[in-house]
Amino acid sequence: MHTKNYIAVEDKYGAHNYHPLDVVITKAKGIWVWDVDGRKYLDFLSAYSAVNQGHCHPRIIKALKSQLDHVTLTSRAFRNDQWPMLAKELCQMTGYDMVLPMNSGAEAVETAIKTSRKWGYQKKGIPQDQAEVIACENNFHGRTIAVISFSTEPLYRRDFGPFAPGFKIIPFNDVEALEKAITPNTAAFLVEPYQAEAGILIPAEGYLKRTKEICEKNNVLFIADEIQTGLGRTGKLFACEHEGFKPDVAVIGKSLGGGCYPISAVLSTNEILGVFKPGEHGSTFGGNPLACAVAREALCVIKDEKLVQNAAKQGRYFIKKLRTIKSKHIKDVRGKGLLIGVELKPEAGGARRFCEALKDVGLLCKETHEQVIRFAPPLIIKKEELDWAFDRIKEVFNKLEN
Ligand SMILES: *Cc1c(COP(=O)(O)O)cnc(C)c1O
Repeated sequence: MHTKNYIAVEDKYGAHNYHPLDVVITKAKGIWVWDVDGRKYLDFLSAYSAVNQGHCHPRIIKALKSQLDHVTLTSRAFRNDQWPMLAKELCQMTGYDMVLPMNSGAEAVETAIKTSRKWGYQKKGIPQDQAEVIACENNFHGRTIAVISFSTEPLYRRDFGPFAPGFKIIPFNDVEALEKAITPNTAAFLVEPYQAEAGILIPAEGYLKRTKEICEKNNVLFIADEIQTGLGRTGKLFACEHEGFKPDVAVIGKSLGGGCYPISAVLSTNEILGVFKPGEHGSTFGGNPLACAVAREALCVIKDEKLVQNAAKQGRYFIKKLRTIKSKHIKDVRGKGLLIGVELKPEAGGARRFCEALKDVGLLCKETHEQVIRFAPPLIIKKEELDWAFDRIKEVFNKLEN
């Protein structure tokens, strides 16, 4: 079967909740992927940063295969020998005390919200059912009902109500708005350090630090959704490190699974995550030995291959290089580490046509919102490979200049 045949089958039998580029991938290795017609592409999206270690990393695949021969699922009714080791290694790597494992990012965000509410009632003394969580405009935290309840994107919400109460929305990158929104019933401030899905929005320097200080002053938990920005993507292990502080709660996912198995987690202190008692929260697959074995190796790869440092170095290099492109279509080039956005002017005809043209020359990118092209290659990428990508990007901007 060829590309168009697979697309026809997918369109007939699969729900249409995505609008993918028309490339049908059948094989991948490192930063490269191949389609069913034998064409080769550089993956410049990394499955929204879930493939930071590169596709089918030999060490991660080896860990996965080896775990398959031992045990894959116990549920938390029993214990297994992988989950405790992952929990310990994650805490040692990040400086947190405790971990709660889930599967998807959205589930981990939900878990962080539940954590903050329970903490709010038990530790802060918020009256029952009055807890508030503050989130930001243009956020992206996942797709569950509770999470879309505080989305401001009509596309994510339309026809999905009624929504969950207990959330307040303030503008992103606005310190005063947070100060004003906090009440005695505020349990947490939930924020993406850099808003990736919203179009790679980097707040003013000092914003994150200042909001953290306001949270501290008001006994409000600062929850960082580092699902996309965490584990090295922005050139630090966590994006909040760019401003030199540790959130009370950090949510991770995506590349924790090394690009091959879903796993997410909530990281925090004993005081905060300690609010959970047996039976109050859980997940059948959460902390399963297969996911944990994969995640342990995924973390080792980040450390051993110095992916955090590489993201910082290559990101600096590539952002600078992108800014040399002279095109009437480009409004802004911004980013941190290897989380990069090229914002187009409204007259440019949308980012989608640029992504399609890039695909045709062997570079897989995806638009985020209408006007932004996201560049987020695996963190293993080298300078020469970025140069290869750059030549194609430049070529496409030249081609679409008129
Ligand atoms: C991807 C993402 C999520 C949701 O993760 P899923 O695994 O798709 O549920 C939440 N927050 C951020 C910042 C993300 O990038």
